[in-house]
Amino acid sequence: NREISNRLLLSDGASVPRIGQGTWFMGDKEAQRAEEIAALRLGVELGLDLIDTAEMYGDGRSEELVGEAIEGIRDKVFLVSKVYPHHAGNEHLARSCEESLSRLKTDHLDLYLLHWRGNIPLEETVEGMEKLVAAGKIARWGVSNLDMGDMKELLHIAEGTHCVTNQVLYHLGSRGIEHELLPWLRGHKIPVMAYSPLAQAGSLRKGLLESEAVQEIAFAHGVTPLQVLLAWSIRDGDIIAIPKAGTVEHVAENAAAGLITFTKDDLWKLEDAFPRPSWKVPLDMI
Ligand code: NDP
Repeated sequence: NREISNRLLLSDGASVPRIGQGTWFMGDKEAQRAEEIAALRLGVELGLDLIDTAEMYGDGRSEELVGEAIEGIRDKVFLVSKVYPHHAGNEHLARSCEESLSRLKTDHLDLYLLHWRGNIPLEETVEGMEKLVAAGKIARWGVSNLDMGDMKELLHIAEGTHCVTNQVLYHLGSRGIEHELLPWLRGHKIPVMAYSPLAQAGSLRKGLLESEAVQEIAFAHGVTPLQVLLAWSIRDGDIIAIPKAGTVEHVAENAAAGLITFTKDDLWKLEDAFPRPSWKVPLDMI
């Protein structure tokens, strides 16, 4: 059953798609607004029903656009937003959350993330997140851009174990997490949410897409090289990728990438061309 295999369960039993939708830079250009909304709505229809945003994105413009896109379909969407580190203390955390809810025109988030580690002690953020859960403002919480040391510290806090995900940068050209962080998170049943799974736009992506390995595999499966990149990021079945697509064509292609099943030979070719690091590298982030 495709519907089931394209989803995974968080530790509290919530079902999320293996491919969701990112929204960074959405809502920034008025001329693209209608198309971006149409893309997000089509994505939800195609099963990419996790939408990721943040108070940071366009100073709230991304959340406002998402709010408009999910009007009438809020119950079909697993809604994720993020709080700035300097807002992640007790009082400000609750205010930030309220403001996000208001921009998103909803009464709760399905998941609220600490965007990256700042100066506020993790204990205080955890306490604030737990209060938001108790108040019904958020269903669960997680973190983003936390490397091994921070994750270990988090899980030493009593309620830190309630963290359901760590959203980190992950794509074929940036595999640092595979050395230590990813196996450790797997051991603690905390699925990774992979951001920039298409390696953003730019020269790094160009190098990946033009590689012989990616091109050959794309040709063999009758898909685009970018679809190979996306399918690769979710190949193990326990990672959620959140590509950002601003057009209906792109979102349809991204949804279709969920149907690609690599052969062992494909995976070996990609491994050979873009090997995982065999030593610890600092967590890559944007
Ligand atoms: P992605 O790797 O998702 O790449 C996005 C780019 O790819 C856009 O230029 C988009 O163009 C293009 N694209 C998407 N689909 C296709 C397609 N099928 N064919 C051709 N081009 C395509 O980069 P992001 O950095 O946006 O990462 C995804 C999301 O992750 C963000 O939007 C955000 O929600 C989250 N994120 C989180 C971070 C964190 O610190 N926690 C940091 C960075 C990102 P177009 O818009 O024209 O479709």
